[in-house]
Amino acid sequence: MGLIIAIDGPAAAGKGTLARRLAAYFGLPYLDTGLLYRATGRLVLDAGGDPADHATAEAAARALRPGDLARGDLRGPQADAAASAVASIPGVRAALLDFQRRFADGPGAVLDGRDIGTIVFPQAQAKLFVTASPEARGHRRWLELQGKGQAADLAEVAGQIRVRDQQDRDRAAAPLVAAPDALLLDTTGLDADTAFAKALDLLRNKRGIAPARIVGFA
Ligand code: C5P
Repeated sequence: MGLIIAIDGPAAAGKGTLARRLAAYFGLPYLDTGLLYRATGRLVLDAGGDPADHATAEAAARALRPGDLARGDLRGPQADAAASAVASIPGVRAALLDFQRRFADGPGAVLDGRDIGTIVFPQAQAKLFVTASPEARGHRRWLELQGKGQAADLAEVAGQIRVRDQQDRDRAAAPLVAAPDALLLDTTGLDADTAFAKALDLLRNKRGIAPARIVGFA
C-alpha cells in the first residue's frame, strides 16, 4: 500500500484546503469523499426521491459514475442536507467503500471525509482530525458563500452546519469521530498557510507511522 493520508473532521473545519495542499506536497491524488455522498443525494433528488429512503439511496449510490462527482450542483443547503441524509444509510456507505479504497491503489492518496481514518483506511499511516470552533466554521462557510456572490445569513449558515455535524456525529453507521491514533489539528484562528505548516509539523513529529515518506521529509 502506498502512503495514505486520512483527514477527517466536521464541516468547514478546513479539511479540503489542507488535504489539497498535502496532496500537492506529497505528489498524491486527492479525493474529497464528501462528493460521493453529495452526488448520491443529488441523484436521488433528480429522480424525485427521498434521500432518507434506504432502498432509493442505496440504488443511487450503486449507480454513481465518476462523472457525477464533477456536477456543478453539489453544494448549497439542499445538497448538504441530502448528502447528510444518504450518508446515514449503511447500504449507501457500503456501496461507496470500494470506490474510495480503489482510488488509493498505487502510490496512495490523500482523502478527506468523516470516516477515512476509522472505517475506510483504519491502517492509514497518517491520520489528521481537523476541527475548529463552531463559530469559526460558521463564519468560514459564510465567507465562502459571500465569495461566490451568494447572500447568506451568518446565523442561518452556522445553524445548518450545527445540524449536519450533529447528524454526522449521532448516526449509527460510521459516525464522525476521531480515530484513536489521529493527530488533532484545531484550525480556529489559523489561515490556510499556518494550518498547512502545523499539519506538516504534526506529521513530522509523529514517529513510526511512515518512516520514509512522513518522518523523512525536509
Ligand atoms: O465533506 P462534505 O461536507 O462535503 O460532506 C457532505 C456530507 O457527506 C457530510 O455532512 C456527511 O454526512 C457525509 N460524509 C460522510 N462521510 C465522508 C464524507 C462525507 O458521511 N467520508
